[in-house]
Formats: sequence, structure tokens, C-alpha cells
Amino acid sequence: MKYNADEKGYYGEFGGAYIPEMLYPNVEELRQNYLKIMAEESFQKEFNELLKEYVGRPTPLYFAKRLSEKYNTKIYLKREDLCHTGAHKVNNTIGQILMAQRLKKKRIIAETGAGQHGVATATVCALMGLECIVYMGEIDIERQAPNVARMKMLGATVVPALSGSRTLKDATNEAIRDWINNPTDTHYIIGSVVGPHPYPDMVARFQSVISKEIKSQLQEKEGRKNPDYVIACVGGGSNAAGAFYEYLDTPEVGILAVEAAGKGIDTGKSAATSVLGKMGIIHGSKTLLMQTPDGQITEPYSISAGLDYPGVGPMHAHLFKSGRGEFHSVTDDEAMKAGLELCKLEGIIPAIESSHALALFEKKQFKKEDVIVVNLSGRGDKDLNTYIEYFNL
Ligand SMILES: *Cc1c(COP(=O)(O)O)cnc(C)c1O
Repeated sequence: MKYNADEKGYYGEFGGAYIPEMLYPNVEELRQNYLKIMAEESFQKEFNELLKEYVGRPTPLYFAKRLSEKYNTKIYLKREDLCHTGAHKVNNTIGQILMAQRLKKKRIIAETGAGQHGVATATVCALMGLECIVYMGEIDIERQAPNVARMKMLGATVVPALSGSRTLKDATNEAIRDWINNPTDTHYIIGSVVGPHPYPDMVARFQSVISKEIKSQLQEKEGRKNPDYVIACVGGGSNAAGAFYEYLDTPEVGILAVEAAGKGIDTGKSAATSVLGKMGIIHGSKTLLMQTPDGQITEPYSISAGLDYPGVGPMHAHLFKSGRGEFHSVTDDEAMKAGLELCKLEGIIPAIESSHALALFEKKQFKKEDVIVVNLSGRGDKDLNTYIEYFNL
């Protein structure tokens, strides 16, 4: 079994590029060039230098002693929360801005829901002096004022999407419309392992630095490259793809993916795509997707904005379907409890997305000698208001 994309961008039966004809030239230009450009020595050099000097990589692989004692197993945290801008997303936007420069693009567009990807995109545009336009649903602009302010400070133009439910999917529609109208000078930075081929593969490759580092760091600390399990939360799936990447073809390493169950799988307020989803097409990719019986996309829900996505990247759909990955779902309450527990036991305030991955220790029993790596995808500063409200702080 193969767990990476084939030349057409398929992961098993998932993936591909289901796009309107008018978008074909843009996507095709990227498809024809991305592997070639990424393989260039000058690209690799600049990418790795920026990851080191600007993002702050390698991020530590931290042995969480008190958390390990509590769950009677050996737990390491991969500290993506220490990346510049507070999460793993910047690994990808750094890669894509360098790609855009080499494709001679002058203008960058992106869509954002909670604003995290918008901020990561605005950051790298400021770094490189490129024009940045971020589409965002009008409702999300109201809900996520601090991130809107960050994007503006970083020099981006935030354009409200006024149609439909005025949230993420409408912002995506606006971004696609923009790209169709600006085929030559614009690059569209997608924020996760979703969208038409080659995006899922390209984003997974940029994020794979996470598992490359885990390998060498674990070798140093444990005398072996492979943990028994890697755990990551899955929204679209980019931090998980990065943490799993080097281990996809190593069956001894258990792959544990955690989705957001929201208020509960059966409540209609959930984002657990592998359980609730059926095959469908979203953002140009054939994948598992939460939908009504007549194929309309269902509005997802999770307390963490980053997991609030109705689909899942095609790599993860394939990991689920093939059985290579073990998928779990965690409710809002379970995640919030696990997040607070990490604060008290390790002095680390995690993003609520990452707290979903941590909550797995209450649901799955590990052996004392197991070595487990949890990808701590981001820090909790952005979630402070949600923590305050939830715990009455
Ligand atoms: C955006 C985000 C996620 C979810 O996105 P993936 O593509 O699934 O990784 C998870 N954690 C944090 C901290 C995020 O900002």
C-alpha cells in the first residue's frame, strides 16, 4: 500500500484535482513546477535557513515528565507551539511564499476562517514584501477581531465575504473567483493538506520537517528513530501530515489521528469527518466530507476554530479507509479538560486544537514502555477568551 500521493495526486481513491476549467491554467502551472522547484538546491537552502532563523526551528522534542507519570507511559511533545506566530502553519506559508517568488508571482491571496492561516500568510508576505489579500467571511471577521487586527498590522488587506453563510466556505469561493480573474500574477496560498492536487502533496512536504526533526531528536534521546505512536489532531490535516510523513511507510509506528467530536458525534454539532463523512468533492479534492443525503456540505462545529472543517485532506481519508491510521474523536469537554491539565502538569498552555490530541490519553491505554510523540500544533494565547469563558476564569 502506498500512502503518499501518486503523480495525479491520488491517495488511494481520494484526492485528484476537480476544478472548474477556468482554474486549470493556474493549478497546472503549479503542478508542473512544484517538485522541480522544491528540489532546487537554492530553494532548499533558503527554505531551511528561514525555518531556522525566522521560524525558530528545530522546535524542541520535549519529554513531558509529569504528564508521562500521570498516564504511566513515555510522552514527548513536539513543540510546534514555539514556532514564530504560534503554530505549525508558518512552515507551509514560508514554503509557499518561496514557491510564489520562483513562479514570479507578485500578489498573494488566501482565505481564512478563524484567521490563523490569514495571519501566517500575512506574515510571510510582509517578510517578502508581496501584496497580500485575505478573504474572510463577514461573520468570522466579527468573531475573530484580534486576528483581523494582526493581519492589518502586517500590511494585508482583509476582504469580507458577504455571500452565503458568510464564513469559511464563502471566503474560499471569493478566493477562487479572485484567482480565476488573476491567473498570471497571483499565487493562492492554501493553508492545509486540502484543495486540488498538487496542494495536499506540496503542503505535506513543507510540513514534513516536523517528522524529519522528530526522527533525529528521538534518535538522540531514545537511541531510536521510531516512536511507538505519533498522535496529532486533524482539522484539514496539515500538522498531522507533517508529524506522520516520515512514518507513513513504517508500520511499526502507530499513527493516531484525533478529530473534533464537538458536542458529540450524534448531536449534529460535530466535525468528526472520518466517522460522519462520505465520499464527496470539496475545494477541488475527492475526499471524505460531512454532507446531507443530497450532497450539500454540512456546517461543521467544534469549540476549536482550527478543527471546524467539514472535510479532511485526501491523505487522511486514505489513512482512515486503509486502516493505516487509527482515528479517534474527542469532544469539546474532553479537549478543554486535557488542555487545562497540560497547563497544570507541564506549564504549557496549548491551543485547543492541540488539546484534542492530548485528550487521547484518557481514551486509549498505552504500555509503560511505549514511546509516544504528541504533535503540539500550537499555543493557547489565541484561545484565551474561549478558556476564560469555558472555565469561568
Ligand atoms: C489550523 C490549526 C490546526 C488545524 O489545521 P491542520 O491543517 O489540521 O493542522 C491545528 N492546530 C492549530 C494550532 C492550528 O492553528
